[in-house]
This record gives sequence, structure tokens and C-alpha cells, in this order.
Amino acid sequence: MKWIPVFFACFYATVYGQTTTPEIVNTSAAQAYIKIAGRLESGERVDSIQWSRLFSTLPYQMMIQGHAIDTTAFKADMVAVFSPASAGNNTSQNRQSSYHNEYKQNLPALEQYITRLANADVADSVKKLLYPFLPERLQSPDLFPKLFYLYYGTADATGNSGLVLNDLLFSYKIDSYKFGLLTSHEAFHAIVSVAFQQKLKENTDYNSPTFNLLYLMEIISEEGIADLIDKPILGQSNSPVYTTVEKLRNNDTALSIMYLRRIDSLLTLAAASDTLLNKYTFQSLSSQFGKNGGHIPGRFMGLIIREGNLLDHQIESIEDPVSFFLNYHRAAMALRKKGYPVFSDAAIGYLKKLKHDLLKE
Ligand SMILES: [Zn+2]
Repeated sequence: MKWIPVFFACFYATVYGQTTTPEIVNTSAAQAYIKIAGRLESGERVDSIQWSRLFSTLPYQMMIQGHAIDTTAFKADMVAVFSPASAGNNTSQNRQSSYHNEYKQNLPALEQYITRLANADVADSVKKLLYPFLPERLQSPDLFPKLFYLYYGTADATGNSGLVLNDLLFSYKIDSYKFGLLTSHEAFHAIVSVAFQQKLKENTDYNSPTFNLLYLMEIISEEGIADLIDKPILGQSNSPVYTTVEKLRNNDTALSIMYLRRIDSLLTLAAASDTLLNKYTFQSLSSQFGKNGGHIPGRFMGLIIREGNLLDHQIESIEDPVSFFLNYHRAAMALRKKGYPVFSDAAIGYLKKLKHDLLKE
């Protein structure tokens, strides 16, 4: 996830809520980008109206408000990459312009992909991949997220609060292998993050140390299940990102065991006195008790839950991070001869207290 979910949620509530509801699949930012790229390639001038057509799209408005993009640099990079006048001039090459270059190599294919997104039912493919991991109550059409496709600046995607932002080129590569796969992982986040927000008690203090801990657990829990959606397919040997996934999964078990032991110690100490949580910010918690935005130890925990036949049980409480940790513990206990870490009785007691204090029944 690239931007902090709180920003996502605020933006969604204040700005997105006021605009007319877009279609489920929205490629307007991608189309505006390709139009500008085409004009630059044929040596034409791009006027301010065309640029504003790109930057006024919802994903770019979010990036601009979140200071995740500098539009002046973005324009300069596009001009440098796509204009024939600057072709071959690599002196100003930076990471951004090299990613624009990758778009340049694939423009006709990307245009075709946009047409495919418009004609084929990508939402239907996403539902087939995603819904086995959601309880029926969250499979409603009103909860299905809006899917945006754009030049995202990096081979990545993000989902939160009912929105999914997909990098067009990355999504094209993944979708050529399995249609809808990239967005299905993110759609899981987009749906479950909303359900989690609704699961929190009304008087929750989002700055409290206990909320920080619960929120880290939520991130770990979401990644743990979301990675069951796409990683088994992306990790197959014919996948376009096979080596990347292999690299990601390398050392998963050893690292996860280390972080789970640390989490167990933290929860055990917190059971005696949770004032010790006061010394952690959310950032320090997430860097000391997990890695890669919660994928570690989440992915490992999700696999153990599945191995222990508790996945269906977890899916019923999909937005409850305490349940994810308790189900992991139960699965690890059942598979104990394999040596997976389990939590102390005090830690389990503290998890139940967290649930009681912060989550609705
Ligand atoms: Zn994720």
C-alpha cells in the first residue's frame, strides 16, 4: 500500500462522496495519459487543457493532495521520454522517466488492454478470484470497489476504502496471465478495510497505543488473506512475476517465526501492563513487529490458518484482526509438531481484551 489508509478514507469521504459515482471500471486517467503520450510522440504540443484532463482524474487528485506527485516534474519526464526532439537524450534519465519508457515500449498493447477492460467483464473475473475469501455478507454489489487504472509510477497497485488504483502497465502484464488477478488482491483490501472501520467501536481513539497495535494486526491480517488470493497463482513457474514472488517468499518462514515470537513477547508484557505500548508509534510498531507492510508475518500466518483447516472459520470474521491471530494460534497448536510459534496464555488473554475494548461484538 502506497498511501496511508487514513488519508484514503478522508479523501474518499470528503471529495469522492461529492462527485458523481463513476463506473466500476474507470480508465480515464490511463486514457488521458496515452493521449498525451501519443501527441508528444508525433511532435505535437500538449496544452494545459490536455494536462488538466489527466491531473483532474480522481487518482491524480488523490496523489496531488497527498503530495505523492509533482506535476511539473511529471510533465517534464513525459516530454523527455515521448518527444522525438529529446529521443536518445538520456542525460536526464531518472527512475520515473525510465518507467515512462516502459510505457512507451508498450503503448499499442496498453491501448488494446484498455479496450479489453471496457469490453470484458473484469469485475466478474475479480469476483471469481476474490469471493471465495469473503463471507457472503461482504459479497454485495454495493460494496464492490471502484477500479481505477492509471500510470502509477511504479509496478504496483493499492486498495483501500472502496477504491483500487492499478498501475496500467503492471495490471496489463498480470492480466495477460490471469485476468483480474492484480486488482482482486487490492479489491480485498478495499472491501475489508471498510468492514474493519465499521467493526471498530464508536468511541475509538485512533491515536491510542492500543489502536496502533490493533491496526498493525489488521494490516498483517489483511495481507495474510489477500496473499492467499494472488500469490499461489503468481508464484507458478509460468507467471510473469515468478522470480519476484520467489524472491519475496524467500525466507518468509524464518522471518515470520522471528516476528511472531516478538509479537508474543509484546502481547505477554502488555497483558501485565499495557503502558509499555505508549513508547511505540505506529511506525515503530510496524518496523519492529513485521516487514513489507505486514506481508511478513501475515502471509505465513494465512498459510498456517489454511493448513490447519481454519480458513473458512477466519473468513466468517474476515475484518476482525484478533480473530486472525487467534485462528493462527489454534492452527499452530494443532500443527505443533511442526514447531510453529504459538502465543502464551497471557498473550491470548490480552488479544481477547483488545477485542473486547476496541471491536463491536
Ligand atoms: Zn496487499
